Amino acid sequence: MSIALDIDHANTVRPPLSGARDLVGLSRPELAAQLGEMGLSERDARMRSKQLWNWIYVNGATDFDAMSNIAKGLRAELAQAFTIGRPEIVSEQVSVDGTRKWLFRFRDPQHPNMPPVEVETVYIPESDRGTLCVSSQVGCTLTCSFCHTGTQKLVRNLSAGEILAQVMMARERLGDFPGGSRPIDGLVPSGETRAITNIVMMGMGEPLYNYENVKKALLIASDGEGLSLSKRRITLSTSGVVPQIEPTGREVGVMLAISLHAVRDDLRDVLVPINKKWPLEQLLEACRSYPGVSNAKRITFEYVMLKDINDSDADARELVRLLAKIPAKINLIPFNPWPGSNYQCSDWDRIEAFADIVNRAGYASPVRTPRGRDIFAACGQLKSETERLTKKDRDAFML
Ligand code: SAH
Ligand code: SF4
Repeated sequence: MSIALDIDHANTVRPPLSGARDLVGLSRPELAAQLGEMGLSERDARMRSKQLWNWIYVNGATDFDAMSNIAKGLRAELAQAFTIGRPEIVSEQVSVDGTRKWLFRFRDPQHPNMPPVEVETVYIPESDRGTLCVSSQVGCTLTCSFCHTGTQKLVRNLSAGEILAQVMMARERLGDFPGGSRPIDGLVPSGETRAITNIVMMGMGEPLYNYENVKKALLIASDGEGLSLSKRRITLSTSGVVPQIEPTGREVGVMLAISLHAVRDDLRDVLVPINKKWPLEQLLEACRSYPGVSNAKRITFEYVMLKDINDSDADARELVRLLAKIPAKINLIPFNPWPGSNYQCSDWDRIEAFADIVNRAGYASPVRTPRGRDIFAACGQLKSETERLTKKDRDAFML
């Protein structure tokens, strides 16, 4: 049975000051420019922005008063103009297997009258890594027929700050910032210093339909003087937004995962309807030429196992044939059911037979153990109740 934590006393709810600008999610030049606008000289703005960057991303500070190397007067001015936002935690659930799921609520401090939005973020601890599954959109414009998120219309894109804030809040809750307290002993994977070692953009939404914000957030997350996550430990998953795949490799340089799920266009058109726009051949060509792809930096192909739909031996053989010239890893995902879903997970012996064919072709194809099913945190189960905004509302967000 899963448990829901009492977070009443967690002192985590720090609604941003109305009208103040959130510093989380600004690039280094943007941060310096903000300080310049306050009247600091270029040199001072550069120096102060470095200090702020360190306080925000290394120390996890949310209070300007704690920034001991910044003069008191300036601290007060900063506190007037800016905020270091964290989302409100609506709920925090812990699965029997240790997976944690948060429902975060975001308000835009610059548009305090706009309705808040809610997204889910999941932490999956394993013996050798701790992975945070981050959302990029509230809902999704796509309608993959086996995915719960796909039944929630797109409400809006998340800003770079909101994408990062999921990482910051999770780090805070898991005790990853200096001086933080761990919720349980032994949370840190062996040989690591932090609970969160990897990020996957596999939460709600299609990250490549929110490319600029995702790119900005991931470049900040991988900044060596900040959150310092190696780009090899950040994976972006896409359903196949082909024109954005090359820029992702060139400009962001993170690991790529493709939600493949079918090896024939007629079936993929149904399961992953974006296939009608960018069919398999174009998708695989984009993978072959993904900047930086090599045997040391393989593309992960995700394949959800749907009973009697895509799980035959012939499908497995075709999968191997299709990926022949691509440095690839294959991830078989048992289908996770959700209320109203029309599919069933393949039987275990079918999954094994499928995996055997893939293994014999030379792929290590781990079957992804479903994690956090009891708290509805497994792949494709995420969804929040946030209602779609009107066009007028969305325009006001300028997202
Ligand atoms: N929109 C992106 C990122 C989401 S990643 C994408 O589609 O790639 C979430 C992963 O879980 C995707 O591979 C998705 O296809 C898969 N998934 C969706 N619904 C699922 C379900 N019910 N069971 C198992 N995997 C699912
Ligand atoms: Fe959107 Fe990905 Fe779900 Fe498809 S699988 S509906 S792209 S979140």
